[in-house]
Amino acid sequence: MNQTQLPPFLDRSKSDACIHCGLCLQSCPTFLETGNENDSPRGRIHLMRGLDDGKILLTDRVATHIDRCLGCRACEAVCPSGVEYGAMLEATRHTITRHRTMRLPQRLLQKVVVERMLTWPNGLRLAVSPARGMQRFGLTRVLPQRLRKLVELIPQKPKNSTSQPSFHQEKIEVKATAGMMSGCVASVLFGETNQATVALAQACGYQIIVSSGDLCCGAIHAHSGNLPEARKRAQRMIEFFENTETDVVIVNAAGCGSTMKEYPQFFSNNAEWRQRAEQCSSKVRDVTEIAAELPASLKKKKQEHPRTTYHDACHLCHAQHITEQPRTLMQEILGNNFVELPESDVCCGSAGSYNITQPELAGRLGSRKARNIIATGATVVVTANIGCIMQIRASLQSAGVQDIQVVHIADWAIQAIQ
Ligand code: SF4
Ligand code: SF4
Repeated sequence: MNQTQLPPFLDRSKSDACIHCGLCLQSCPTFLETGNENDSPRGRIHLMRGLDDGKILLTDRVATHIDRCLGCRACEAVCPSGVEYGAMLEATRHTITRHRTMRLPQRLLQKVVVERMLTWPNGLRLAVSPARGMQRFGLTRVLPQRLRKLVELIPQKPKNSTSQPSFHQEKIEVKATAGMMSGCVASVLFGETNQATVALAQACGYQIIVSSGDLCCGAIHAHSGNLPEARKRAQRMIEFFENTETDVVIVNAAGCGSTMKEYPQFFSNNAEWRQRAEQCSSKVRDVTEIAAELPASLKKKKQEHPRTTYHDACHLCHAQHITEQPRTLMQEILGNNFVELPESDVCCGSAGSYNITQPELAGRLGSRKARNIIATGATVVVTANIGCIMQIRASLQSAGVQDIQVVHIADWAIQAIQ
């Protein structure tokens, strides 16, 4: 890439709040791995400001440090100055995307695989069967490295996929109606988890009256810097739920939920859409918030549970600040068989499409997560994001571990209360 001067793009009220204290450094997974200040929040903020005021030119090296950011927002959660790092990163990526010339393979990966394929359920459905076949027969070795990594992440169909998770109890009173954001990737690869989410919501007194089907919330596009496309997809999602009579919208993917809760930020220059976005966002609840309402009678210990731990999905703990509800639920059901995971809130390397676009660093973070899980002695890992599930399963497999189950909290909870 040549050296490119970027036009101003930052909201300086957000970026100038950084006082360079460095308190965020030890929370940043990429800094923990590389030890390079340019791969830390403080270093990246310095780069972003420099690009914004023209003192730093965009080069491959500068873009690499921004590309390596997971967007996990661990830095935002610990910042004493309230720096809105996530919003700054999206604005920076949006501007870089418009001014950089990507090499063809990188461009195809970003535009075709990440932004199109992953968010186009019919296309994904067509690709999944051959990918699963290649996994079963050990043929993934013939694929180029990045494609191989992607194919190896795809989960095999659960063996008992004919019996869908359900919940039947006549005494549960319906207290509210709910819509389900079923997710473009989840609706293809994690249908059972969506069923479990419906069943869990029913157990908590919600009647699911509508599902968003194949609609995409725009999170992947926003995180990649394609804000116009993210905005379009957000508008479709907002319109969809406006036309329903739901009290809440339940989401079981942390990255999608945090984007949907922050939809108003997409429309800072459009009062009408901002107001419609605010209305939609105010209804969004992560499934862990819903599960916290599970009646006490259902949480009574009915079976002996294996030693189980919990991994915090970044967009659940850092962006939505949800850490207590899943732990309380698990402790109530598991008692002493719940064990805390060291570095539970350090990103596993999934981060949306990060394990596809940055496989080397994603692999290092995945190995770090696997080592921490193995150290707990747990045989079950629960988390609340399908991206984390795929990444942690692949990381444990790479570490040679076959006997640790990685499950979504909706699947785990509905099974635990039966
Ligand atoms: S982002 Fe926040 S925590 Fe990090 S250096 Fe700036 S002010 Fe300090
Ligand atoms: S978003 Fe995550 S990876 Fe990026 S600078 Fe912040 S802590 Fe580091």
